[in-house]
Amino acid sequence: MAKAPKDARPDTKVVTAGRRPEWTGPVVNPPVWRASTHLYPDMAAKEDGGKHNEDGRFFYGRRGAPTQWALAEALTELEPGAHGTVLYPSGVAAIAGALLAVLKPGDVLLVTDNAYEPSRTMATGLLARMGIESRFFDPLDLDGFAAKFCERTRAVLLESPGSLTMELCDVPALAAIAREKGAVSLLDNTWASPLGFPALTHGCDIAIMSLTKHVGGHSDLMMGSASAGKRWYARLRQTAQALGHVVSPDDAALAARGLRTMAVRLERSTASALKIARWLESQPEVAQVMCPMLPGSPDHDLWQRDFTGGCGLFSFVLKGRDSAARARFIDALTLFGIGYSWGGYESLVVPFDPAPIRSETNWPPAHWSGDDTFGVRLSIGLEDPADLIADLDQAFTTMEQG
Ligand SMILES: *Cc1c(COP(=O)(O)O)cnc(C)c1O
Repeated sequence: MAKAPKDARPDTKVVTAGRRPEWTGPVVNPPVWRASTHLYPDMAAKEDGGKHNEDGRFFYGRRGAPTQWALAEALTELEPGAHGTVLYPSGVAAIAGALLAVLKPGDVLLVTDNAYEPSRTMATGLLARMGIESRFFDPLDLDGFAAKFCERTRAVLLESPGSLTMELCDVPALAAIAREKGAVSLLDNTWASPLGFPALTHGCDIAIMSLTKHVGGHSDLMMGSASAGKRWYARLRQTAQALGHVVSPDDAALAARGLRTMAVRLERSTASALKIARWLESQPEVAQVMCPMLPGSPDHDLWQRDFTGGCGLFSFVLKGRDSAARARFIDALTLFGIGYSWGGYESLVVPFDPAPIRSETNWPPAHWSGDDTFGVRLSIGLEDPADLIADLDQAFTTMEQG
C-alpha cells in the first residue's frame, strides 16, 4: 500500500494513519507484539541500540514495540502540529504524565473550574503535595483568567466543553493569553478529539485524550495519550520513561482497531445526540439541556467557529425534582446502562450534581439556569435514536407516576 497523500482529510487519515508495512507486514492491522526482551543479534548491535533513544527502535519492552508505535504514530498523524504522541495506561495517567512533564515544585498551575473531577483531585492532592500550587479559574471569564497569572504560573489546564456542565470556552483566546504570559497550555481534548477540535492548531501546546472513550470505542480498554510539538513531546516522552509508563500491546491493538471506525462512530453518535437533545429541550420534565452542538445553546456560536465535529456526550437538568425522582427516571431506562465512561458503542447514563466540584466563587456557572440541580449525563451510542427517545419518554412517565 502506498502512503496516503499528506493532505488527506481527517476521516481518511483515521483509516490510513500509522499503517507502516514494516510494522504490520502483509496483514492489515499491526500484530500484537508481546515483548519485554528484544534480542540483539550480536554485541555490536547491542552497543549501538543502547546509544539511541528514538521512536520506532527496539530496545526493551518499556519503550514499546510495533503495536504501540503504530497506534502512537496514527494519533500523531491525526493531530495537526504534533511531532509525537506518548501513550499512557489511562486518560488520568496521561493528564498526570503531561502535568509532571511540565511542572516543578514552586510552580503555579491554573486549572479550569469545569475540569474532569480526577484532574481537580490531582491538582489539590498529588500536585499540592509536591509543592505545586493550583488556582481554579472561571473558563468563561477571559479578563479574570488573565488576572490569575503570577511570576510562578507555569501551566494552564483547559477542557472544552467542561466535564458535566458542558460549557465551551474560548480555547484559542485562553491559550493565546497563556502563551503571552509564558505558560504552557494543556487541553484535555477527550470530548472533541482532534477530529472535532485540532488543539495544537488552536494554540495549545499539549493535547491530551482519554483513549478509553472514542478511540477504544467499545468500552473494553483503558488508555490515554498526549501529543505535542517537538519540544514538549521530548519532555513528555522523557517523563513517561522516568515514570515507567507503558501500555500493553493487546490494548494498543484494540485501540488501533477502534480508531479505524472512530470517524463514522462519532458522526453517527453526534447526529443521534443532536436529535435527542432537541427532543429533550421540548419535554416539560427538563429544565435545561447542556449541549453546545444544539442551535440556540449559549455557546453555539463558539461551537460553530471552532469545532469541526462533536460526539454523543451531553447533559441535562431535571426541572424541580429530587434525587428520588431522578433515581426513578434512571432506573426505568432500559437502553441506557448506568455507568461511568462514555464514547462506547452503547448508550450510558449517570446522575451528577456539579456544585461540590466547583469553586464556590464560580457557582453557578453562567450557563446554569435557575435552582434546579439534578443533572443527568447521557452518552449516546449507536442504537437507533428513535428507540432511545422512546426509552427516555417511557422513563419520564415512570418518574411522574412515582
Ligand atoms: C474519562 C475522562 C478522562 C479519564 O480517562 P480514563 O481513561 O478513564 O482515565 C479524562 N478526561 C475526561 C474529560 C474524561 O471524560
